[in-house]
Amino acid sequence: MAFHTPAQSAPGQLAEDTIYALSSAAGRAAIAVIRISGPAAINIYKSLCPAKPLPKPRTAAVRTLFHPTEQPANVLDSSALVLFFPGPKTATGEDLLELHVHGGTATVKSVLSAIPLSQAGAGRIRYAEPGEFTKRAFHNDRLDLTQVDALGDTLAAETEQQRRAAERGNSHVLSQGYESWRNDLLLARGEIEALIDFSEDQHFDESPSELLGNVTEQVTEILRRIRLHDEGSQRGQLLRSGIRIALLGPPNVGKSSLMNYIVGKEASIVSSEAGTTRDIVEVSLDMRGYLCSFADTAGFRGEGVNRPGEDTPIGAIEREGIRRARSKALSSDVIIVLGAVTSDGGNGFSIVVDEETLRLAAENQKPTIVAINKRDIVDDSQLQPLVTKLHDTIRNTPGLEGTPPPIPISCTNARDASLRAADPGGIHALTDQLLEIFRNMTSMPEDLQDLLGVTERQRQLLDTCRQHLEDFMAEAQPGDGGVEADIVLAAEHLRYAANALAKITGRGEVPDVEEVLGVIFEK
Ligand code: GDP
Repeated sequence: MAFHTPAQSAPGQLAEDTIYALSSAAGRAAIAVIRISGPAAINIYKSLCPAKPLPKPRTAAVRTLFHPTEQPANVLDSSALVLFFPGPKTATGEDLLELHVHGGTATVKSVLSAIPLSQAGAGRIRYAEPGEFTKRAFHNDRLDLTQVDALGDTLAAETEQQRRAAERGNSHVLSQGYESWRNDLLLARGEIEALIDFSEDQHFDESPSELLGNVTEQVTEILRRIRLHDEGSQRGQLLRSGIRIALLGPPNVGKSSLMNYIVGKEASIVSSEAGTTRDIVEVSLDMRGYLCSFADTAGFRGEGVNRPGEDTPIGAIEREGIRRARSKALSSDVIIVLGAVTSDGGNGFSIVVDEETLRLAAENQKPTIVAINKRDIVDDSQLQPLVTKLHDTIRNTPGLEGTPPPIPISCTNARDASLRAADPGGIHALTDQLLEIFRNMTSMPEDLQDLLGVTERQRQLLDTCRQHLEDFMAEAQPGDGGVEADIVLAAEHLRYAANALAKITGRGEVPDVEEVLGVIFEK
């Protein structure tokens, strides 16, 4: 959503204008919903439906809508459904009128252009700015900023798991938590300041060091909770922006074939020519509810290593492809190392897996799956010992000890419609393993599920809060160097930390509320 701060957006002035907008999607549809919010909502109703009483609050009524000024009477819609919600207990906190009109483009257009011609009374009637209904909800205390954040995520959710993560943020649980931390911090700061101001002439129950000791205990607990929120946010972020999977392996093992099979459409060219996939092809997909992106990378081989069966040195373009593949692997969340069975020309077979790729996976400590393609060219009895041997090698590689056994797959068999087995190419087994990894990466304990709703914006502000709290701890516990605790400075850090929390919810003394709103509504 692009948000342009309207000139009249200060809370006290908002109510003057009545805003309206098409709330359902543009284009031809059976029904279109037009929402009107503000003090002129009732007047607009009276202008459009002059002879009929206002429907009972929150009760749908069928009405004929007329043009407000044209004579003889011009019927805009002969049977619209009208709902009236009296403020302040409405979505925006103001009087709200909803018109469910026939969704033909001309009908919608005629109603939208008739609304501002209604008798407004005071204030203007104008089309809403993007996000303005939500902004009014915030200013009228109907939503706090954590809920506005979550609303943005709910509207943007494309997969089931994104929807679930967004729903977590819709409740008050997160904002109530931040509010209670903020109150604790402000209370602690107040006590410290009272101590500074009056300690000389009044008797206090606690000594300065006792008081600081109590506050540091509270702050330690908040810091612990912030760490949990950070973890929840990272996990939620994986659900929201998608899990990045890098598919790595030497040329010709079948990376493009596997990716194309998984994606279900031709995302990159399948070719037997080595090194075709020089650049990275990336596709986003919904995998059983999880948003993930697959990156099919350049044929991957270490410097100075030739392709199996070839002795061509690595060219500049291929080297660049490998560099990109390596950086893709570094920035991905999950790595699939793909190898393949190859024939030695006679009856012997071996498995080609790039050791460099395995090392890369081990160094980065990313969840890793090893799959061996082209199992169709060898009998199971010959394949099994090769797979077992490879598994032993992998388990002995530091960093890859816990890697599950390699999964033998065949893209050729998976595509062969004549094979009647449930999973002829073994690729379901591969996706099952991927999903198990997704679940482990994105789950939170039952009692901390709400933390999945912590958005990136909130995480950044929590990080700012954490830094101020750590600064507070450094001032309040200066160590053994004989330095006195600077309680004036310590109290100031508590105030900064509380301000960061205020920016999360938009409640309390937010120093620059318009800036905070701008960040949210820019989405
Ligand atoms: P990439 O270079 O790793 O992306 O490999 P490709 O997907 O381009 O495949 C290389 C060659 O292997 C192509 O000729 C594919 O048809 C072939 N191929 C892919 N998967 C299989 C498989 O499961 N079995 C067999 N026998 N050949 C395969």
